[in-house]
Amino acid sequence: MICGGETSPLFDEKIKVVYDVCTVCGFTYKQPRFHPTPEQEKILYDFHDNSMENAGYVTMLKTFLDHAVLPYIQSGDALDFGSGPGPVLYELTKRAGFHAEHYDPFYHPQADYENKTYDLITATEVFEHLSQPLKTMAKLSGLLKPGGYLAISTSLRPEDDQAFLTWWYRRDETHIGFFTPKALAHLIRDVPLKRVYTNHKNHFTFKKE
Ligand SMILES: [Zn+2]
Repeated sequence: MICGGETSPLFDEKIKVVYDVCTVCGFTYKQPRFHPTPEQEKILYDFHDNSMENAGYVTMLKTFLDHAVLPYIQSGDALDFGSGPGPVLYELTKRAGFHAEHYDPFYHPQADYENKTYDLITATEVFEHLSQPLKTMAKLSGLLKPGGYLAISTSLRPEDDQAFLTWWYRRDETHIGFFTPKALAHLIRDVPLKRVYTNHKNHFTFKKE
């Protein structure tokens, strides 16, 4: 799906879903018949306590900003793509000195951003929810100014299938795609982005050439 490689099915007995695992890049995709509908998805997101009042969530995003964004860029036009109900990272980015905007298909669906370009785009905990990650990556890359940065967070899946089947991250029903380092490398294959930072766990920063 990301690299075009053959896939093999993996059955998750605990939550009764089947994934397709790419035999080449390891990208793991929940079969579409197990995806929540947009209505179910919205209900699940409404349960997420992603606001400025949730100290743990705010700390997590501050860490992301400190490690994956601010060492590379400190000002300019910023877009938080997939900002959630909060929208916390948008607030933090604004406070850090950026001219910030945000978009979320469920909570802030105004698509004004589509006709603009940005110095910084952030997408935290977004890529694991996407049914067409390559398409979204191409879109975000197109919205960046030359020399701009895209900073994302998504947790890398454990390499071993048995470890994957006990991994907490897969239990969120709205998580449908799970990346390996190889799959992420393939994700930027056709766009002018170069990876400039990763903590090898869940933070990735790309620069547009
Ligand atoms: Zn693949």
